[in-house]
Amino acid sequence: MIHKPQYSKAESLTQLSANFHHIQQRIEQACQRSGRDASTVRLLPVSKTVDEARIRMAYQLGFHNFGENKVQEALDKSESLSDLEIQWSVIGHLQTNKIKYVARFASEFQALDSLKVAKKLHQRLELENRDLEVLVQVNTSNEASKYGLQPSEVAQFLHDIQPFYRLKVKGLMTLALLSNNNAKVRECFVLLRNLRDQLRDDLRLNQSTDMCMDELSMGMSGDFEIAIEEGATIVRIGQALFGARALPDSYYWPEQ
Ligand SMILES: *Cc1c(COP(=O)(O)O)cnc(C)c1O
Repeated sequence: MIHKPQYSKAESLTQLSANFHHIQQRIEQACQRSGRDASTVRLLPVSKTVDEARIRMAYQLGFHNFGENKVQEALDKSESLSDLEIQWSVIGHLQTNKIKYVARFASEFQALDSLKVAKKLHQRLELENRDLEVLVQVNTSNEASKYGLQPSEVAQFLHDIQPFYRLKVKGLMTLALLSNNNAKVRECFVLLRNLRDQLRDDLRLNQSTDMCMDELSMGMSGDFEIAIEEGATIVRIGQALFGARALPDSYYWPEQ
């Protein structure tokens, strides 16, 4: 059984601020342990199920970029919070019928894992005259039920999406194994980093592309310190910041 810490719900600015500072401290400590500069780690607050009022509080604390797993929820929030300068990152699996919305309002899509989606997204972006930063999602836990490309498929995939110039490739994203076994979780992060390093070397040799392979989006509330030790440049944190969610994780990504 997976041990789940109890994250208390942040209902006030003070509480949210305390959670944020605690996370920031843990990020800094993980950076110190691994000889990294904390400014190289971007904290992406994940606001799924978090209501508008609390997102406004987080905005007051200085967060202007939020991650959402479901497109419909993100779209609704982008409309009701349109008075704020928020950049929305879609971090969950994208169904083809939702592509047009993402092309319209998102500034980043972290879960690209199919050629079909890449192509349609590019076409829609072309109509909207917009670019979109994307990360390619990789399945590093070898669970058949998880989304993401197999590590061995990514090089070919990057080659195949080159014509879709509206997609600005920035790096890779993964969800590690959901487990209390830290060594196994760490293996997922190491795999993603090694893959990124190898792909980055390949890209340097290829001068006809403006793709970039610098970003490693890995680590969530339960495992972000391990991810940082292994090179994460983006950590996606929901519950440790906002508090526990009522809906189980299986609602957002398939479990075994
Ligand atoms: C919800 C979610 C997260 C954040 O998970 P927490 O446990 O709330 O930190 C990260 N990545 C993805 C893809 C998610 O859907």
